[in-house]
Parts: sequence; structure tokens; C-alpha cells
Amino acid sequence: MTDCCSIKQAMHTPEEALQRMLDAVAVSGSEETVPLRDCRGRVLARELVSRVTAPPHDNSAMDGYALRAADARAHAGVLPLSGVAAAGQPPVELPAGTAMRIFTGAAIPHGADTVVMQERCKEGERQVRVPESPMAGDHIRLAGEDLAAGAPILAAGTRLQPQHLALAATAGYGTLPVHRRLRVAVLVTGDELVEPGTDIKPGQIYNSNGYALLGLLQGLECDVRGPAIVPDDLEATRAMLQDAADDADFIITSGGVSVGDADFVKDAVESLGTLDLWRISIKPGKPVAVGRVGTTPFLGLPGNPVSMFVTFCLFGRPMILKRQGAADIHPRSVPVRADFTLDKADPRTRYLRARLAADGEHQRASLYPDQGSGIMSSTTWANALVEIPPETHVHGGDILQAYAYHDLLS
Ligand code: AMP
Ligand code: MG
Repeated sequence: MTDCCSIKQAMHTPEEALQRMLDAVAVSGSEETVPLRDCRGRVLARELVSRVTAPPHDNSAMDGYALRAADARAHAGVLPLSGVAAAGQPPVELPAGTAMRIFTGAAIPHGADTVVMQERCKEGERQVRVPESPMAGDHIRLAGEDLAAGAPILAAGTRLQPQHLALAATAGYGTLPVHRRLRVAVLVTGDELVEPGTDIKPGQIYNSNGYALLGLLQGLECDVRGPAIVPDDLEATRAMLQDAADDADFIITSGGVSVGDADFVKDAVESLGTLDLWRISIKPGKPVAVGRVGTTPFLGLPGNPVSMFVTFCLFGRPMILKRQGAADIHPRSVPVRADFTLDKADPRTRYLRARLAADGEHQRASLYPDQGSGIMSSTTWANALVEIPPETHVHGGDILQAYAYHDLLS
């Protein structure tokens, strides 16, 4: 049996491999202007500065009464009412020695220096009783305390989430400059593959990697071409890769990059561009190929479904994010407490399917019992990948790092 360890290639740690992969991709260029309602998940192409001062005027944080604190002290807390300040109206003048009914968000009347919340007041027919010595400044939101006009509010490269959309709206933007959606071609290789939902013959399996990749890329707001099944044939592989390169900003394949007789992706990519087939000291995960088809960046992931899933999360996701122009491309890991033991050390970094559960200071990580690279059920049972450093035995209670799915899948 041939395995990739018998051919001479440098062995990379996952960190080195990722750095080299990131060095091989650049931002894919053009930007477009998109209505705010369609911007969630898109990558901001330029820094935004606020178009307005926010809030635009001093306003009330409470329903209550606006007054001068000194007037309350001077009149033992009883003040005649001089009107109503309502949200949406321009600021009015507060006559000296009076109080004004005010509602949350309404502009503070000129002259008022405090708002007393209504729960602390008693309103009479034409007057109101307030505490005798209210604090000046209470319950007033100051103009500009959130945003100053012209000040930077969001950095280029921000992946726009609901809170960013709200801030952009606060700052007066109805459209945003974002990077064009990345077109990613997904090709899955193998004569054994058939589309799910169709009949299957002996020897065939359903294409699952294509749908994992589709979902992973949709989670990153990519415009996905495919998944298309590529037969194990050099000419067909070349033709489909060439089509993908003409149409897409990035190409991802699964399978066909081992050194078996039916693995044509390597030769096809080499004939159309450049390719490095890397040994990365991770488990699961070999082999991973990186290169270009023409000028289009190419990432060839392993065919084994779990290896494909893990290597996409570790390498594909940061590469895609970098090409999209995103600034924050590395997933966050969190410390977790092992609820398992691993007696055997391994020279590779292992990424094990684990379920995290809240348990005191650190979450507790349990392992799916079958960590085989074809066991797709492990990926749905789990909610995280736990990283086991090289040459490490794990004892129950050890602290390890884990990547929660919510940090990997979007
Ligand atoms: P390969 O890397 O092409 O040798 O594939 C390794 C293993 O992954 C084989 O058992 C394939 O049948 C399986 N595999 C490859 N592609 C897919 C796919 N798209 N969906 C499910 N399994 C796949
Ligand atoms: Mg294959």
C-alpha cells in the first residue's frame, strides 16, 4: 500500500501550513454598494465614519419630569407644570420655576438640567411633586455620547453582524460599501459518488462532502457554484477545474489528492497551474493540496468526510475569509476540561469531535466514541473540536483548547 508518508515532502505543523496557505491568497478585489437590509454577513470594504452626532440632542432616558434641580430645592419639590416634551419634537424652552412632563427619547427642554423618573413624582392637577433635591444631570443622555460626527465607527474588514448594521443605521447609512460576494466553486471527486435523493447501486455512496462544503461556504456568505461531482478521469477533472477557474474566485475540491491510482486532482491542477501537496501533522486531515488553477486559488481537501470537515474549518475558512477581505480570520479557542483520557500520545496535533457542556469555570469536553475519519455522525453529535497538542497524553481533568462550532461554522 502506498501512503503519502512514503513520498518525500516536508512535514508542516498546522500553524506553519496555515500561514503558508494564507500567504498564497489575496483579497479578491472589487467592492459594491449594497442596501443595509442585505448587508448581514458581508465584509465591509472601507472604514465607516459617522455621518451624524448620536444622540443628536440631549434626551431623556426615562418617562418623568424635566426641570432645573435648583428650582425643586427652592420650591420644596412642588413645581407647576408647563407642558409636555414628546419624542420626535424639537427641544422646547422650559419656563423658569416649572417642570415639564417628558417621555423617553424626547429632547431635553432648554434650561432643564435633570429628569426625575415618574415613579418618584406625584402629579396633581396643574403641578407635580418631585423629590426636594434631585441630582442635576440625572437620566439625561447627552448629545454625542454614543457617536461623534466624523469619528470612525467600523473598520474595513468587519464581517457585518446585526449589531454592526444597527450602528451603521445609527450613523446614517442606508447602503454600505462591501466586498463583492466571493464566488466559490465546489468540486467533489470520485466515481463512487451519486447525488443524495437518487437511487444508489452497489459500490456507490452519496455525495455528502459537497453538502458539507456548500453549508460551510454559505455560512461565510459565499456564492457557491456546485457542488459538482467530478469523475475519476484526468481529462474530465481538467475540464471541470478549468471551467471552475473561469467562473470563480476560489476553487475547493474534496478527494482525489491522495497518491492512489484514481487520484487525478493533483495531476490536473499541476497541468493547469501550480500545486503543493502537503503533509500537515494533523489528525484527521491528510492530504491537503494548495495551489492555483490559472490564477484562481485552489484548495484540495481530503475525501474522507470528517477529514474534509476538519481541514475546511482549520484551513479553508481562514483562506476564504482572507480572500473576502475580512480582518478577523482566525477562529477563537476556549479552555475546556477533559472529561476523557487518551493513553496514547500522537506526534500529530489531533482535532477530536467533542461535546462541550457548561460545568463551572471551564466547560467540560466529552469525546464521541468513534473518532474515525469517515464517521460523519461524530460531527453532528459534537459541538466543538478539541485540540490535542502533539505527543500529549490526556488525563481526566486536564485543560485543553477547543474550537466551538459557533466559532467555526460562520
Ligand atoms: P479519496 O480522497 O478520493 O481517496 O476519498 C477518501 C474517502 O472519502 C473514500 O472513502 C471516498 O469514498 C470518500 N469520499 C470522497 N468524496 C466524498 C464525498 N463527496 N462524499 C462522501 N464521501 C466521499
Ligand atoms: Mg476518490
